Amino acid sequence: MFTSIAGRSVVVTGGTRGIGKGIAAVFAGAGARVLVTGRDEGAARTAADEVGATGYVAADVSRKADCEKVAAAAAERLGGLDVLCANAGVFPSARLGDLAEDDIDRVLGVNLKGTILTVQACLPLLRASGHGRVILTSSITGPVTGYPGWTHYGASKAGQLGFMRTAAIELARDGITVNAVLPGNIMTEGLAGLGDDYVNGMTAAIPMRRLGTVEEIGHTVLFLATDEAGYITGQTIVVDGGQTLPESPEAVS
Ligand code: NAP
Repeated sequence: MFTSIAGRSVVVTGGTRGIGKGIAAVFAGAGARVLVTGRDEGAARTAADEVGATGYVAADVSRKADCEKVAAAAAERLGGLDVLCANAGVFPSARLGDLAEDDIDRVLGVNLKGTILTVQACLPLLRASGHGRVILTSSITGPVTGYPGWTHYGASKAGQLGFMRTAAIELARDGITVNAVLPGNIMTEGLAGLGDDYVNGMTAAIPMRRLGTVEEIGHTVLFLATDEAGYITGQTIVVDGGQTLPESPEAVS
């Protein structure tokens, strides 16, 4: 039995659709007060309504001023911050030979720099909480696997883990834990945008023969936010239906 997180204050970046919206729905369903963020204000408002969040903020995680705006909104609307879910991310595909400098800047800017700026802006509130939790949405791609077209993305997701390990040490004495969830292939709006061939190919490579759901990621994040997970820091949990296990295609045939 886990201690209830009802009443805890939670921010989910990129909470307007996909995995972030799933995380927000799980926390709101558990009685937490949730603020969702994304760049599109209309989508943020709609998502907040749909998941029963306390509020929303339009903000771009790659901009320091926007991250500070999110922290200020958490202070004002939630009265503080106990759990930060740094989830916002983008995954445009381009082979290394075609990768434009702008693509590299955008992916690293949102996924890696955005993670650092978000955590940094929320630090005073997380310290004040006394039991702050930071949960990053990383990926199997980069930390565990590779996939053609995602050199920049894989670097950004592996980079999040490098950030996590040192942040976990720096913040341990403040009672703040910093962990990461590594999703495999989760059915989201963003992933659907990669096309049927991608989705079908991935489904065939997953021992459970299905993509994951956003709620399955949300529940993993929820566990890392509990009091009972308070001694876990600087760690990763892979949630991939066994996708990273097979040694060869025959193993899943
Ligand atoms: P998604 O459906 O495309 O949703 C992405 C969310 O992030 C949206 O709310 C989007 O809202 C927001 N966002 C994008 N750029 C942003 C920015 N610069 N500032 C603030 N918010 C921003 O993507 P998803 O599939 O749910 O992926 C979410 C996270 O999970 C990402 O970090 C991704 O790398 C990771 N992940 C996903 C999978 C998967 O299978 N789906 C697997 C492994 C890891 P706006 O566009 O309105 O800003």
